[in-house]
Amino acid sequence: MRLILIGPPGAGKGTQCQRLVELLRVPHLSTGEMLRAEVRSATTAGREAARFMDQGQLVPDPIIVGMVSRRLQAPDCRGGCLLDGFPRTLHQAETLDDLLERRAMSVDGVIELAVPRDELVRRMLARGREDDDPEIFAKRISSFEVQTAPLLDYYGRQGKLASIDGLGTADEIFERVRAAVRRFDRTLRGR
Ligand code: ADP
Repeated sequence: MRLILIGPPGAGKGTQCQRLVELLRVPHLSTGEMLRAEVRSATTAGREAARFMDQGQLVPDPIIVGMVSRRLQAPDCRGGCLLDGFPRTLHQAETLDDLLERRAMSVDGVIELAVPRDELVRRMLARGREDDDPEIFAKRISSFEVQTAPLLDYYGRQGKLASIDGLGTADEIFERVRAAVRRFDRTLRGR
C-alpha cells in the first residue's frame, strides 16, 4: 500500500509513522529525515537545502523531487511505502502522480492528522526542541496552511483522503489511523 501522512508541524506525524510502518511493513520515506542526512553529509544538495530549512522555508523542488524519485525506485519500495513530508505542495503532488503513473503505481490513501493551531504552538513550547524557534515554527505552520493544506482538497476530490482527529493519546490516534488504513484496504480490494 502506498500511503501519505499529512499534518502540520507538531501534529505527531513522527510517532504515528513509526507505528504505521510496523503495521504495514513498508519503508518510511521522510523527506525531512532524508534532507537532514544530506545536510549532515554536507553534500551539494544538503548545503543548498540547509539555507531554506534554517529559515522554515520549503526546499526547492529540483532537490526534493530528485531525492524522492530515486528513493521510490529502490526495490524495497516496490510493495509500497509510507510518504511523510512529501508531497507538500500541489505541484509536488502532481509530480508524484506522474512519477508513480510511469511505473503503473498510484497513491492508495492519504491520512490527514488534524490539529488546531493553538495546540501546535502549545506542544512546540512544551517540547522546547532546539530547532523550535517560535518565529520559525510559526513560519512552518503558515507554510503548511498556505502551501500544503490545498493538497487535502486535491486528494479529497479523488476520494483518497481520511481526515482524522490528531488530539488524544498516541494510542487513541493510532486506532483512528488503523481504521483509515482498513478503509483504504477495502477500497483497494474492491477495485
Ligand atoms: P516539519 O514537518 O516539522 O516541518 P520535516 O522534518 O518534515 O519537518 O521537514 C523539515 C524541513 O525540511 C522543512 O521545514 C522544509 O524546509 C524541508 N522539507 C521537507 N520536506 C519538504 C518538501 N516535500 N518540500 C520542500 N521542503 C521540504
